[in-house]
Amino acid sequence: MANPGKAPGQHFIRSIIDEDVRNGKNGGRVHTRFPPEPNGYLHIGHAKSICLNFGLAREFGGLCNLRFDDTNPTKEEVEYVDSIQEDVRWLGFDWDDRLFYASDYFEPLHAYAVQFIRDGKAYVDSLSPGEIREHRGTLTEPGRESPFRNRSVEENLDLFERMRRGEFKEGEHVLRAKIDMASPNLNMRDPVIYRIMHAPHHRTGDAWCVYPMYDFAHGLSDSLEEITHSLCTLEFEDHRPLYDWFLEQLGVFHPRQIEFARLNLSYTVMSKRKLLELVRGGYVGGWDDPRMPTISGLRRRGYTPASIRSFCERIGVAKKESTVDLSLLEYSVREDLNRIAPRVMAVLRPLKVVIENYPDDRTEELEAVNNPEDPSMGTRTVPFSREIYIERDDFREDPPRKFFRLAPGREVRLRYAYFITCREVVKDETTGEVTELRCTYDPETRGGDAPDGRKVKGTIHWVSARHAVESEVRLYDRLFNRPNPADVPEGEDFKSLLNPDSLETLSACPVEPSLKEAAPGDRYQFERLGYFCVDTRDSEAGRPVFNRTVPLRDSWARIEKAQAGKG
Ligand code: ATP
Ligand code: MG
Repeated sequence: MANPGKAPGQHFIRSIIDEDVRNGKNGGRVHTRFPPEPNGYLHIGHAKSICLNFGLAREFGGLCNLRFDDTNPTKEEVEYVDSIQEDVRWLGFDWDDRLFYASDYFEPLHAYAVQFIRDGKAYVDSLSPGEIREHRGTLTEPGRESPFRNRSVEENLDLFERMRRGEFKEGEHVLRAKIDMASPNLNMRDPVIYRIMHAPHHRTGDAWCVYPMYDFAHGLSDSLEEITHSLCTLEFEDHRPLYDWFLEQLGVFHPRQIEFARLNLSYTVMSKRKLLELVRGGYVGGWDDPRMPTISGLRRRGYTPASIRSFCERIGVAKKESTVDLSLLEYSVREDLNRIAPRVMAVLRPLKVVIENYPDDRTEELEAVNNPEDPSMGTRTVPFSREIYIERDDFREDPPRKFFRLAPGREVRLRYAYFITCREVVKDETTGEVTELRCTYDPETRGGDAPDGRKVKGTIHWVSARHAVESEVRLYDRLFNRPNPADVPEGEDFKSLLNPDSLETLSACPVEPSLKEAAPGDRYQFERLGYFCVDTRDSEAGRPVFNRTVPLRDSWARIEKAQAGKG
């Protein structure tokens, strides 16, 4: 795991921008953009790019645009456009009035294409898509020129115009840049820059039936917006010569493309195609299922924007691919919630305890601290009465060594309340299951200390039965069983690597009465259990549904450590 305490560090992109600013490049201006394709919801990998682009702009007193790369009309939906804006804002960033769409530039991009044709640098190719692929060559063999490569400018202009007017079927013709079929870089072998698609576009409707390819549209959109630093992921490194070529040929404003390694997270798939498959196939409850690595899933799970930003700062920015351990993301949210989440008592798997010497008609309001990390968060009271629930796990009839919680004849401290001693174990006659404990309390120990100085080793949480609010609690685990689910064995589907136990629903959990008023999205620490938040979809007034964000400690790390120790 990367050093979690690491301060925001210098990284190579910061250094490049720093130097450009000092040299007065672009008049000292810093202008970045975040360019999502609206074909899915944003995920934690996008958060890295968002924090980088918006973060650097903010740091250098510059600007960052939000630009939808909507050049493929068949895969894009308005739902995605809306969710992306919501997620970027939620992360704490703002594009002000600079919301753009690549489709805003269809006219100028088309004009650039025409200029390429006029300059003899683009031609209409009438080979079939299969033939074009075949002519492309391989990494070791040069490509072959298309027989249509030397069409006259007039013929190209005429055909391209007719393509635009809708006279041809999809795949009948494409417009290609005329660069070099022998280039060692396959991207430079006369790449397609426009294709025919008879598909309505979510913004331009039926206005177009020719659409620019990503490489052509992207760099020129950057240029039109006078982006100074165009940050993208490593797979575009080989596209940079093409990015530069278009801009150089046209002599237009020339942003600098800089590539960085994408974020990969263990036990997580990040490709939008795969995430879409999980959603469409009903393997998860939707894009915002709390097990999804999407921003909306993390939000619903209880992650804070600050925790995601600090995670993104911590993982740094490098030129080399790597996989970040999921536990680092969990560390970041724990660190944030430890400071801001009020602590409350809740019982996940209840076992009833009757305190025999406590009067039935009595209720005491006991003072409890809301967050020992932050005294300004104050205190509240929790009701105590004769019947309470404790965690089933906190009792063992036959306790192993070092088990300091409740057992027959044992005394423990009830958090913020009294010492109790277990006198009798009541069992179901047929199943033998423990159904109730009969205990006594020591009235002298109110608040949790014995005046005679006697000590108990265990402190457990509890909820008064009569005052409890019944709630549903959902416990989440990793969505996948494998550290690298993207690496599917031959012949297997990545979905076969899903963790069948990634969701456990507990339907009748007593929680303290202060949670009755909990609002959707509110976050808490359930003492000794972890961080939980009120589900924003399924909670009802008076019956909250809680999602576990993370357990208190990294139980996986402990398990793995224990196993490593054994081996
Ligand atoms: P996917 O492979 O999931 O479909 P994408 O790269 O096609 O992702 P885009 O919508 O094009 O998704 O991405 C928008 C921006 O976010 C791009 O600049 C892209 O480089 C960046 N990005 C996408 N995934 C990651 C990631 N895992 N880590 C860092 N940046 C990412
Ligand atoms: Mg992309």
